[in-house]
Amino acid sequence: MILHLSRKALEEARLFFEEAGSRGCEGTGMLAGVRLVDGWRAERFLAPEQRASAGPGVWVEVADRGKAQIATALGPGELWIARIHSHPGAAFHSATDDSNPVITAEGSWSIVVPYFGLGLRRGAAACAFFIRQGGRWRQVAPDDVERCVRVGA
Ligand SMILES: [Zn+2]
Repeated sequence: MILHLSRKALEEARLFFEEAGSRGCEGTGMLAGVRLVDGWRAERFLAPEQRASAGPGVWVEVADRGKAQIATALGPGELWIARIHSHPGAAFHSATDDSNPVITAEGSWSIVVPYFGLGLRRGAAACAFFIRQGGRWRQVAPDDVERCVRVGA
């Protein structure tokens, strides 16, 4: 099973996260796309309306209006394939990330981008990838990311 990521959508995510990062804030977004026979294709980035704190204690959360955007933004045949958010430093899932209810369907993805989005300048390999399986988030081992995640048109 392969997660195909649109280069354009990742680029939009990177620009959004870097802009938030320039204010010391994390950013969060969603990737919409379709299921494929052999995996997923994430094609479109959405940054829902959100609130963020630059500290102490950096956090970001989707605002109520953003939740409404997420609930209504899908086109016909589209699904939310992944949530994607940035961290100030290393890419990992915090306890908050694990319990975040924005997307919990089996087979959905969570992508964490390090360094306020700058990590995406080096491509997807710098990010941490989690897949929802058996009701919990399981991290995809870095070696497997190379095999399971493709960035393309
Ligand atoms: Zn996080």
